[in-house]
Amino acid sequence: MAQAIQGIQQGASGSTKFRVPFLDLQAQFAAIRAETLSSVERVLETQHFILGSEVKALEADVSRLVECQFAIGCASGSDALLLALMALEIGPGDEVITTPFTFIATAGSVARLGARPVFVDINPDDFNLDPQKIEEVITSRTRAILPVHLFGQPADMDAILEIAEASNLTVIEDAAQSIGARWKGKAVGSFGRIGCFSFFPSKNLGGAGDGGMVTTNDPVLADRLRVLRVHGSRSKYQYELVGINSRLDELQAAILRVKFPHLEKWTSLRERNADRYRSIFRQFKLNDVVRLPSVRPGGEHVYNQFTIRTPQRDKIREYMRQQGIATEVYYPRPLHLQEAFAYLEYESGDFPEAERASDEVMALPIFAELTEDQQQHVVSAIATFFER
Ligand SMILES: *Cc1c(COP(=O)(O)O)cnc(C)c1O
Repeated sequence: MAQAIQGIQQGASGSTKFRVPFLDLQAQFAAIRAETLSSVERVLETQHFILGSEVKALEADVSRLVECQFAIGCASGSDALLLALMALEIGPGDEVITTPFTFIATAGSVARLGARPVFVDINPDDFNLDPQKIEEVITSRTRAILPVHLFGQPADMDAILEIAEASNLTVIEDAAQSIGARWKGKAVGSFGRIGCFSFFPSKNLGGAGDGGMVTTNDPVLADRLRVLRVHGSRSKYQYELVGINSRLDELQAAILRVKFPHLEKWTSLRERNADRYRSIFRQFKLNDVVRLPSVRPGGEHVYNQFTIRTPQRDKIREYMRQQGIATEVYYPRPLHLQEAFAYLEYESGDFPEAERASDEVMALPIFAELTEDQQQHVVSAIATFFER
């Protein structure tokens, strides 16, 4: 085992000099290896894999963090969204207002239930749904607003809740990228009727596979969510609703519980890395050349992604790739222009800010273990690109 740990550390340090990975999950694992292995072993010893004490304990952890009375584990962030919409009985004939600049699951969950995703454009400063554009698309069919706290930054929840209240709409939060983020001191996932979280490995709290959770303060909804995740059954072989099979595994919950106590520290390291990028970009006098992420006053950004913008995005990425620096594009094509949503009959030009963002955004490595040297390497490559 000692050798294996050394191997990982060597691998990580041997690669820091010239290569900057986008995300280094092996570095994270090296720090929690023994604890993770023993908690996996603990579950294997019990052979209790479905909805046991590990899931219960993680639900309690998340409910405390999100300051919601109830947290219900499920199989993925996508299923968290699906279960939320099912619990609210959203289906054919209903419309749900959301952003086109997000991961497919946000609008996909709406469409899968036969409801219609209705997009509104984003605010180019924070990439989140622009509340000023919501009212003009509200119809008699609108049931809910589904904001996404994209990249780790809370959407403007004051404005969204005000509109929802005035029009009697439900708010469901897609907080898949934002666990622990706060808007005016209050945790995301606690503003709407239901909050949706993901434990996909690349999220700030990531499992060893898929996992998700929903949060709510409504006991009736919490009960329905619990029933829906086990085929609509409360007692064995009695089905009061048509549900799905969407449970968080005990093994995943056990691994996530090892990581959970580290989340706050890892988040502050992401914040430190973001601050460091800002000062390195200033040193290189690149602040006017590329646009760094802006933080909306009142919000706390947990930096699942550090997304910069430049019209030269594709050329820079290619140059950085040649320098051994990995970057990603979230998202290269907005949802209203995806083939899967062609039936919604949106056109290019309908959401100019989302479309421009798709052409210009680029996410830089921001994971907790990233070193200052690596960040210098990232920014100096961008500087060199512009000097050439
Ligand atoms: C990751 C993500 C999801 C889906 O989560 P999975 O666990 O991958 O199913 C939904 N919405 C957003 C914004 C996400 O980033």
